[in-house]
Parts: sequence; C-alpha cells; structure tokens
Amino acid sequence: MLNKKTVDDISVKGKRVLVRCDFNVPLQDGKITDENRLVAALPTINKLIQDGGKVILCSHLGKPKGEVKPELSLAPVAKRLSELLNKEVIFAADDNVVGDNAKKAIENMKDGDVVLLENTRFRPEETKNGEAFSKDLASIAEIFVNDAFGTAHRAHCSNVGVTEYVDEAVVGYLMKKEIEFLGNAVNNPERPFVAILGGAKVSDKINVINNLLEKVDTLIIGGGMAYTFLKAMGNDVGKSLLEEDKIEYAKEMIQKAEEKGVRFLLPIDHVVAQEFKNDTPIKIVPRGSIGSDWEGLDIGPKTRELYADALKDAKTVVWNGPMGVFEFENFAKGTIAVAEALANIDATTIIGGGDSAAAVNNLGFGDKMTHISTGGGASLEFLEGKELPGVAAANDK
Ligand code: ADP
Ligand code: MG
Repeated sequence: MLNKKTVDDISVKGKRVLVRCDFNVPLQDGKITDENRLVAALPTINKLIQDGGKVILCSHLGKPKGEVKPELSLAPVAKRLSELLNKEVIFAADDNVVGDNAKKAIENMKDGDVVLLENTRFRPEETKNGEAFSKDLASIAEIFVNDAFGTAHRAHCSNVGVTEYVDEAVVGYLMKKEIEFLGNAVNNPERPFVAILGGAKVSDKINVINNLLEKVDTLIIGGGMAYTFLKAMGNDVGKSLLEEDKIEYAKEMIQKAEEKGVRFLLPIDHVVAQEFKNDTPIKIVPRGSIGSDWEGLDIGPKTRELYADALKDAKTVVWNGPMGVFEFENFAKGTIAVAEALANIDATTIIGGGDSAAAVNNLGFGDKMTHISTGGGASLEFLEGKELPGVAAANDK
C-alpha cells in the first residue's frame, strides 16, 4: 500500500548511504533515559550493514536552534548504539556536521562500517530546509534513507532538502511500519473502528477530530478537551479546562457526528479536585454537577465502564490523548482503564501522540498494543489526513 521505494528496493553494496534516523531521545546528565527510538531504528541499520553499505547516520537532538550546544551532542547516542548494534559506531564530532572531520571519517569507511554525524540542528539552515546544508549532506552519500518518522511532518534539510541532490531517496523499515499501521487503521480499518481522543486541548486536535469523524464508527472523548464539548452541550464544567473560543467548533463536531451516524461519547461522570495536584481531596460527580470551585481531572468510574464497554467489540482502535492527568496517580485511573480495555480486546490497537505513548508504556501496557507510534506530532498530522513532507520526498515505486 505504501507507494514509496524502501530499503528493500535498493542495492547498497559499497555505496555510501546516509540514513536520517530519529535519535531525538530524552537525556539526563548525558544518560539516555528512554531508548525506544534507538531500538526502533535498528532493523534498518542492521539491514544496510549486512548488505555491505557504508552506513552514515544522522539525526537531530533537542532544539539547539542552529548553535553548537555540547549538551545536545549525539555522542552519547553513538556510544549506546554501538552497544545495541554490537558494532562500533564511529562518532564524527564536527561543529559543522558535515565539515572536515566528518568527511575524513567517511573517507576511511569500509563496507559495513557505521558513522554517526553530529546533531543536524547545530546547523542553522537545517530547520529552514536551506540549500547549502542539503547539498552538504547529499555530497557525502549516493543513497538517502529516511527512517525518521518523528520528524516526517517537517520539511528540513536532513529529511527533505537532501533528497533533491542524491541518486536515490527511499524510506526505511520504521517509516514503512509507521505509515502502514497508521495508514491501514485510518483508511482501511476493520470495523467497528473506534477512535479515542483525549489530552489537554481541543485546539491541538481540531483537524484530528474533524478528519476522524469521517472515518470512525465511534468517537470517544476524554481528558481536558471533553469539557469544551460538555460546555457546548450546556453542562456546568466549573474550573475545568475550557476553551471558550472552541465551543462553536465543538457544537459543529457534535452535529457532524450526528449527520455521519457516528456514536459520539463524552464523560458521564468526573473525578474532580479543587487544586491541580496529586494530594488533594477528590470527589466523583455526575456530568453537569462539577461545581464552580472544582476542576475535572479524570473521567469517573461510570465513564470508565461506558468506554470499556464501547471498546468491547471494536476491531480497530486508534488512541490519542490520555483520559486524565495521568502523571498524578490519583487521576490516572481513566487512562489505565482505557489501556486495560485495549489490552483485553481482539483488535488492532494503535497509539499515537507523545504523552499517550509515554502513558501506555509507563503504565506497563506497551507490549499489549499492536503499534505504538514513535512520532507524536507526526502521528497527529497523519491522523489529520495530511501528507507528511518527509514521506512525500522519497522516490515513488
Ligand atoms: P499527546 O501528547 O498524546 O497528543 P496531549 O499532549 O494532547 O497528548 O495531552 C497530554 C496532557 O493532557 C497530559 O499532560 C495530561 O496531564 C493532560 N490532561 C489530560 N486530562 C486533563 C484534564 N482533565 N485537565 C488538564 N489536563 C489534562
Ligand atoms: Mg503531548
């Protein structure tokens, strides 16, 4: 279904292959605290090593804003990758990313060697998709492989600009997997197809809601965004997160669901508190009775049941956005209940969104899901139905 060339469609023996990975991992005091993205990159890297390519890896890390920031160097990634690959990853320390030192390291490469370049965002042109850096990157390789799903929604030198100046631009296994899972779920779902949306704000997910209403059988809403919808239906929401300027939009979406015959579920009860912290008195209240001094921080027990029941027969589920402030243990029950419901059904279950992926992993449900996307922003834009520039730039089959 993916109409782009992949690493299976090229021959890399003896060739220099530049691979754009997403090594944007969280670091604390130089230590990688979550290596999911490194592990997810291994299949493509291993394949290129085995096929005898000269494998040149690149990525951004954090937001150095075009300056050299030693604390955002990719050196710790080279070290950990060497361990994961069981093979030395030569780190090309170079403030220019593709300067003399990097070029020297690449000249010395033998077939199957692996070099990692420095943080691409040390170059100011990177995020502007500037020509000079795109050409620099292309000058060190014949073939370009984009395996960075996490940045696929951005057009930068290292994932879009570079493709214009290489012989061949293809996508890697991770990119392929992400697009096929998300793409199949949204465009060719086994039904019933249920989407669960939550998280903080309606405004972050306007186009996601709009697009998914065209596709799903049931749309479940929880999290902070639920209160704008509840307000739109005339309910009291107290001090809960409310986006006044999105109430009209919420009304339109409720109407659209009706027209499309989509079952549209909103919380029927809430866990409320007077202060935004874990250790504070809580109450369970039904819809419409939050009270002026109280704030909804999680879906209530009846809603947990309602949502689990609505998921029982689902065959495809896409979930983006936690049901409550899951970072606080006392407001994590709604998110846990939905994760449990997904773990227990016989369905394709797909998690998109940075906080949702973290919630599912941290709560221990990671291996129970069909697919957890490695790209927060990119998966959201995908769910909006947008074409991702990083994917579009690869050569067609
Ligand atoms: P994702 O990264 O998965 O797309 P979001 O960034 O949209 O998710 O939302 C995640 C955030 O939403 C979490 O930090 C969570 O605490 C917050 N959140 C969820 N429910 C509520 C609520 N009722 N009130 C305030 N914040 C909430
Ligand atoms: Mg988020």
